[in-house]
Amino acid sequence: MSATLSVLLRRLEPGWSITLVERLDAAGAESSDAWNNAGTGHSGLCELFYTPQQPDGSVDVSKAVRVNERFQLTRQFWAYAAENGILSDVRGFLRPVPHVSFVQGADRVDYLRRRREALAPNPLFARSEWIDDADEFARRLPLMAAKRDFSEPFALDWAADGTDVDFGALCRQLIGFCVRNGTAALFGHEVRNLSRQHDGSWTLTVRNRHTGENRKLTAKFVFVGGGGQALPLLQKSGIAEAKGFGGFPIAGKFLRSGRPAIAAGHRAKVYGLPAVGAPAMTAAHLDARIVNDKPWLLFGPFAGWSPKFLKHGHITDLPRSIRPGNLAVMISVGVTQRKLVNYLIGQLRLSHSDRVRWLREFVPSAVDSDWELTTAGQRVQVIRPTKRRRGELEFDTTVLSAADGSIAGLLGASPGASTAVSAMLDVLARCFPGRYQAWLPTLKDMVPSLGATLCEEPGLFEEVWSWGAKALRLDDPAGAS
Ligand SMILES: Cc1cc2nc3c(=O)[nH]c(=O)nc-3n(C[C@H](O)[C@H](O)[C@H](O)COP(=O)(O)OP(=O)(O)OC[C@H]3O[C@@H](n4cnc5c(N)ncnc54)[C@H](O)[C@@H]3O)c2cc1C
Repeated sequence: MSATLSVLLRRLEPGWSITLVERLDAAGAESSDAWNNAGTGHSGLCELFYTPQQPDGSVDVSKAVRVNERFQLTRQFWAYAAENGILSDVRGFLRPVPHVSFVQGADRVDYLRRRREALAPNPLFARSEWIDDADEFARRLPLMAAKRDFSEPFALDWAADGTDVDFGALCRQLIGFCVRNGTAALFGHEVRNLSRQHDGSWTLTVRNRHTGENRKLTAKFVFVGGGGQALPLLQKSGIAEAKGFGGFPIAGKFLRSGRPAIAAGHRAKVYGLPAVGAPAMTAAHLDARIVNDKPWLLFGPFAGWSPKFLKHGHITDLPRSIRPGNLAVMISVGVTQRKLVNYLIGQLRLSHSDRVRWLREFVPSAVDSDWELTTAGQRVQVIRPTKRRRGELEFDTTVLSAADGSIAGLLGASPGASTAVSAMLDVLARCFPGRYQAWLPTLKDMVPSLGATLCEEPGLFEEVWSWGAKALRLDDPAGAS
């Protein structure tokens, strides 16, 4: 998020002094690291948890459309960055891979068909294929077809133009550009406190984690891009807009296999439906990944639990985030989220064999010894205060900003990195209202469809889609492997 914002600001205001403060010794090593997330360029093509069935039987596709529209902004920004030397190694972070929805059972096939029908008139979703033939299934997904019983109804909704993204590698390229163009980067430095000065600017207390030395930085504008740590930092800032918010951490775990024979049998990201009673974002998926040029398969997510707000955080993170202002909100969520708590307890009890048994729904031939468990990043789910001091647990991303626009931060982890550009454009619009109009021509160079709704402008969509495919070499199947 911060890397994206830094590039946008560097282009808009080349003369501004920008300092990036990172507590670790490397960039993109928390949630954005390749192994700490699933690497899906979320665009609503295959994620069935974005298209819930309503009580009246209809399928609500609004979230899938919203996420796709946002992903289009990200894709255009990457295309601009690739054409302008900001991203010099596109294959180092981005590859085309089919995004596929997969269901089994007559009811679920019926749901998938209705989802497809609801999305079909939308140009952003017009390219998918329906597959319910066993031979075609086996031709496209050989690993998933091996030893599969095809007697039960099944279906695939196949979108050829999905993406696999190494967000950590992307982050490093973006920050590399910023540093080459005047941004100062302090690695191994942690922001410990923020205080507002009389003139409205901010003083940050920053500690060198290697020497223990403290220093002060002053800034007219602060973006708190601390991932899971954004909430505690916004709380420390004392801004009224962060009051009452809480965070609940859930760790992600995946099974992964790098065995060449296994990875070669599956070149798609295949998403299923969440298990009954499980939170939406826990829907299982089997992902083809390429990390550091090596093909891998990833299956999950499984949930873990730790009170840390970052993978490299502290076990005191959760307790220290509970304050008089959000105590009631946190308790009210604890009381109402029994289902989530039961789900987490069930997940913590899973053995390796249990996890591989879940995997067999996707890969019937899976054997325990081919797969290892990895711990991904921490998702800190947002707990939003409502009226009457109650709280609502959200599975979305939220930008919080002070009324005077001097500070903003991003909470939540889904759809996450894929929608970084729209989130950071939102930060610019909220925090720099006096400059935003003047910035628009430069912003439209970077994101040509800014301000348009692409699903209502099919001609513009085709134009920016083809441009993006060419600039990012997404139309070059040879570049995928
Ligand atoms: C299991 C899992 C799967 C996911 N899958 C996907 C996916 O498939 N697609 C997708 O788009 N998104 C996915 N996400 C979400 C995505 O990973 C995040 O939304 C995104 O990486 C967040 O980026 P960020 O810059 O906000 O945070 P991070 O990448 O976490 O970066 C925050 C940085 O701030 C630093 N920091 C924190 N506190 C301080 C401090 N006090 N001082 C200095 N530095 C500090 C941290 O060290 C870190 O480097 C997933 C997340 C998880 C956990």
